[in-house]
Amino acid sequence: SAADAWTADRIRAADRAYVIHSWSTQGTVNAVPIAGGEGSWFWDYEGNRYLDFQSQLVNMNLGHQHPRIVEAIKEQADRMCYIGPGYAERSRAELAELMAQLTPGDLRMTFFTTGGAAANENAVRLARHVTGRRKIITRYRSYHGATAGAIALTGDPRRWYAEPNDFGVVRMFDPYTYRCPVGHPDPCPVCSGGPHLEEILQYENPETVAAVVLETVTGTNGLIYPPEGYLKSIREVCDKYGILLILDEVMAGFGRTGEWFACNHWDVTPDILITAKGLNSGYVPLGAMTVNERISEWLMTNKFWGGLTYAGHPLACASGVASIKAMQEENVLDNARAMGRRLDAGLRRLAEKHPSIGDIRGRGLFYGLELVKNRDTREPLVPFNPAGPAAAPMNAVIAAAKKQGLYLSANNNVIRLTPPLVIKPEEIDFALEALDNALVHADEATEP
Ligand code: PLP
Repeated sequence: SAADAWTADRIRAADRAYVIHSWSTQGTVNAVPIAGGEGSWFWDYEGNRYLDFQSQLVNMNLGHQHPRIVEAIKEQADRMCYIGPGYAERSRAELAELMAQLTPGDLRMTFFTTGGAAANENAVRLARHVTGRRKIITRYRSYHGATAGAIALTGDPRRWYAEPNDFGVVRMFDPYTYRCPVGHPDPCPVCSGGPHLEEILQYENPETVAAVVLETVTGTNGLIYPPEGYLKSIREVCDKYGILLILDEVMAGFGRTGEWFACNHWDVTPDILITAKGLNSGYVPLGAMTVNERISEWLMTNKFWGGLTYAGHPLACASGVASIKAMQEENVLDNARAMGRRLDAGLRRLAEKHPSIGDIRGRGLFYGLELVKNRDTREPLVPFNPAGPAAAPMNAVIAAAKKQGLYLSANNNVIRLTPPLVIKPEEIDFALEALDNALVHADEATEP
């Protein structure tokens, strides 16, 4: 009957009563029922349309309802929804082959998971088995997932609520040149990578360290791009001590930075590459751990101690194959680069008018806009890990954008600008105009 229909109100009520939302106090959640989406837009039941300048969780690289991905999922569903990971299955095999072809250097074999966290968990366990060592080095400004091991690798404050843990993680500082923890002397030991890692290894004993796990470009925690030479320098130190380099490209991979993988920008190949999100544009849960030739060979004669019911789920793999082929055949990387240039130019124009813009960082469509109280002192617009009223200026900017139909998000004082890679020029312009209006709220919080 009509009374039982799933109206927006009924969806909202059931959601409030029964759905536990991520990282939230449930009583403060007011989730908007969403009716649909297409391309770079989604909309609610009242007809409000939002330009998705976040690609949801920076995963929908090809936007909403891409017809080729939807079709591939339907075809796979008709052929075979599920078969256990022990069998060879067409979409799984095809996607693994594509991964070997697309990933840099000698990366070859892939273990498919249900997302980024599980891929990181498996990479760390494998690195420990391959090296016979236990410790892992990560960075403070990082997010690697929410499961026990992945949150232990993570630096950001969400880790605090999973402590204490004894996962054997040691953290190093980030090459955050704009806000360097050692004042960025020239040359800078932290931002050049190798010297800082060497010093930590000296205290930790390199022979106890299995792997260094890094986001090639830091995503959630501030869109931090490593300076030229950083990754090579880290790679060299890892090689010197027989430590494996694991690059987490869950967010930065699959075209986000205008290259297939962010590490391509610096010509560095990790021993293990972690991907998820853009791998299949997020249509079905999927993550991947791709290992190099040496580890692939090792796996020929040593057992892989990992497994998941849904390792290489056929529906997920089919969506991955379709997403990659669409990227190849629809020149998505070219578009990401061109739209990135348009966004970059627009942001630099905004910086001329808005004193709150401290730094603009990005490549492709992976941009961060760092907001400050004062450009000279670089005091952040809001403090690290702001709560309550301290977060107000950032919240005001995000709310003002939303009111104009621009869906954005921020972490601390950095706004994330990560639209679908298929975004159009007029949509970039729409976002820039909304941002122009919204930034007035940040300017109000600046101090001379
Ligand atoms: N690694 C990075 C760099 C991420 O950005 C994320 C998610 O945001 C993850 C790992 C965790 O992935 P998932 O949420 O699919 O487990």
